Amino acid sequence: MSEVLVCLKDIHFAYNRELVLEDIDLHIERGSYLGLLGPNGSGKSTLLKIILGLIKPQKGEVELFGQPQNKFKDHFKIGYVPQKATQIQSQFPISVEEVISLTAVSKKAAHQALTKVGMYSHRTRLITELSGGEQQRVFIAKALAASPEILLLDEPTVGIDNESQKDFYSLLRELNKEGLTIVIVSHDTEDIIKEVSRVVCVNRRLVCHVSPKEFIEGHFQDELYGDDRKKIIHHHSHA
Ligand code: ADP
Repeated sequence: MSEVLVCLKDIHFAYNRELVLEDIDLHIERGSYLGLLGPNGSGKSTLLKIILGLIKPQKGEVELFGQPQNKFKDHFKIGYVPQKATQIQSQFPISVEEVISLTAVSKKAAHQALTKVGMYSHRTRLITELSGGEQQRVFIAKALAASPEILLLDEPTVGIDNESQKDFYSLLRELNKEGLTIVIVSHDTEDIIKEVSRVVCVNRRLVCHVSPKEFIEGHFQDELYGDDRKKIIHHHSHA
């Protein structure tokens, strides 16, 4: 078995009293490309935030690169592209280079990251002048500039046109081939299962952690978006 970069043991998390994640056990191995799927409000973003240490579970253990989370200091090893990064952070009229320099990396590292995502020639342009797909590349470059070993992306294809999405998926494929471990949260089940090596489904609990083939053959799609979805909508309407 290859090295486990992220290990979650028996995670329980509630924002207030409402349990959002329950009994989550998950291993993410080096080199994997993992699609994290589930309906709206099923706890996907919360799970990423727990891995990042932005929020602490009430119960359970998180290990990163073989260390308990509170001992882990190499935060640069974990790259993060938050939800709506493109929509929110692209409102400010600063240059592409300046966006990357917000991460306090060297100019050389910033340029290398921009080259990797094919945006080096756009480095002096204002972020506000770029297309959605180009902006997204810049935010990936920002996350890559610190040379992470695992990259977490939260719904990165929202608001991106089809053509840019294809380019985006091929960029991720390339990065994964080069050894980067990737976790991508997405609604785009059909697209994502063609890309990833592992599929993890959450709906408060871990529904499955399988290969894309097993995901299709196991009809997990129905389980995820079938009856459980009604439960979630029902639950929200009384929240
Ligand atoms: P997903 O990413 O799968 O859409 P989230 O992890 O964002 O789901 O949210 C899971 C549940 O937690 C939802 O019911 C959501 O309303 C609730 N939630 C998310 N963030 C907060 C917060 N900061 N405070 C209270 N409840 C929250």
